[in-house]
Amino acid sequence: MTALQLIQDLTNVLFVSIFVLTAVAAYRRRTRIALDTAVLFGALAVVVLEGPALQLLGIQTSAASSATASILVMALPCLMLSLLADFTNVPLLVRAIALGGLIAAAIVIITSGTPLDPIAALFLVAYFGIAALYVAFGFVRLARRSSGVTKRRTQAVAAGTGLLGLAILVVAASTVAPGAAAFVSGATQLLALLAAVSWLLGFAPPARLRRYWQEPELRAFLERASTLPRLPSTDAILRELERGAGDSFGARAAIGLYDANTGSLCFDNGHGALPPEVPEHSRFLASRVFASQHAEFFPDAALAHPEHATAYRAAQVGPVLVAPITAGQRRIGVLELFAAHQPVFSGDDLALAQLLADQAAVILESRALIDEAARVQALEEAAKLKEDFVSAAAHDLKTPLTTLLGQAQILELRFARDPALAQHQPAIGRIAREARRLSALVEDLLDASRVEEGKLEVRREPADVAAVVKLVAERNRPGKERIVVDARERLTGSVDRRRIEQLVDNLVENGLKYSGEDSAVEVRAWRDDGEIHVTVRDHGIGIPATDLPHVFERFHRAANVDARRYAGIGLGLYICLGIAQEHGGRIWVESTVGQGSTFHVALPGAGEGKPN
Ligand code: ADP
Repeated sequence: MTALQLIQDLTNVLFVSIFVLTAVAAYRRRTRIALDTAVLFGALAVVVLEGPALQLLGIQTSAASSATASILVMALPCLMLSLLADFTNVPLLVRAIALGGLIAAAIVIITSGTPLDPIAALFLVAYFGIAALYVAFGFVRLARRSSGVTKRRTQAVAAGTGLLGLAILVVAASTVAPGAAAFVSGATQLLALLAAVSWLLGFAPPARLRRYWQEPELRAFLERASTLPRLPSTDAILRELERGAGDSFGARAAIGLYDANTGSLCFDNGHGALPPEVPEHSRFLASRVFASQHAEFFPDAALAHPEHATAYRAAQVGPVLVAPITAGQRRIGVLELFAAHQPVFSGDDLALAQLLADQAAVILESRALIDEAARVQALEEAAKLKEDFVSAAAHDLKTPLTTLLGQAQILELRFARDPALAQHQPAIGRIAREARRLSALVEDLLDASRVEEGKLEVRREPADVAAVVKLVAERNRPGKERIVVDARERLTGSVDRRRIEQLVDNLVENGLKYSGEDSAVEVRAWRDDGEIHVTVRDHGIGIPATDLPHVFERFHRAANVDARRYAGIGLGLYICLGIAQEHGGRIWVESTVGQGSTFHVALPGAGEGKPN
């Protein structure tokens, strides 16, 4: 067997293999492109197999059989053209000329004897060569517009077609220079072999090669991925992810995020209109995958969702790949990849699509965390600002208020002594009362700031907590008669008497405020297990269970408190907690709505607690 023979056999085997592969693909997915490809290579396979088959059967090659083979060869340009038309626009005139050329070629083949006269042969070769080169350029233009694997595959198809056209043109050249017959036949065979290899790579690339082709875009996508979470908005991240995923596949990509409010996938990221590349109805396929959480490949969207076949065709959507974007248990959305034509992706690409979707999940999660961190920081800054403002305002209010209160009290005394001013006494009494209230409020604000900053001053010295409790109970105030005290023994502890007084006073004041006008507020103090216990119990409105964990927080007021009826700003208990903790003690509450509340304070006994 000569080298030339070997090349020829190899070429033939390749053409037949491509036919088998494309025929299987066409059987699996009956799309137009798959069928057109299979028909093209079917014709080539017949041409290639005809000679050996006849030889095998012991049939002599007749004029009719070789004419059929020649006509089939001449039909190849038309078949290639209709394949090109599946991908891109081919002017009708071009197709008509090609068909006319085929009919003319058939007539030439049938009417002229063998061997063909040189003019007829030249016509056939020129027709074939020009048509093949036209198709090759069509594919080159298509490749320029595409990216990723699609680009590489289209380039391979273009190369295959061009090489075949070139082979035929070389044959044409041999008619002009008959002396170079050996060279021509060698060159033609080699070009045909290269054409076969290129077509194999273009129409049925092995999975490994596809992955190799995908690698640069994929690598670029992954390299860029680490910087994506820092983009200014989630929207920008989504667009980048879509671009990267699309490039990796040489297709269009869209990401739909799950919107818990509407319970559906949202492809526009809240901007209302869908981006033009997202076919409206593809939500259906996306939702299906989102529900099943398994990546799916739909060879033809129109077949998978026949109700909207026309819409898919209009949007140029053929095959669709959808992969769920999920981070742990959190279902974020879906990544959709769609192309106009087969065979852009195949079922093998599911794993890659899922990999990109997983990357997208990581990036979107990181973004969410960055957003959350920024939100918390902003909240903290706002809280700090508020804090600074409140404390500065309270400080500035304190001095004029002290003067105001002092003056009001002096006037109150003077008015009380002078009968001539008796009629104004209630008014000045009100002024003094309100000034006192304001003053207490400012004190609370300042104390709350101190607690917040951990600067609440506590000067501890031995003191009798029972005496403090009694003092608070005896203080002159509306509702004083409702207070019942049970503090029999001396309860000496190392405490700041003023602060403990403030704490118990706050609890008693609340007990009186949040209970009925004739219901008792019971204050009890005793020693147990080395600790000093104080409880303040009322039979008032109680605290709802959902508010119980929060009543010691700053500015928290329970849901059952009507601000018009119960004055207050929610600082008292926060300060109480600060005081108890500064003493190394605890404070807690038990309460039932409508039945009342019991506040517990436990302070370390003498010698215990935090050192001064
Ligand atoms: P204020 O009384 O000014 O609102 P506090 O910090 O003293 O602020 O109390 C916080 C919240 O806890 C109150 O708004 C109220 O909802 C609830 N609370 C406190 N003490 C009682 C009580 N004795 N009975 C019912 N609710 C109470």
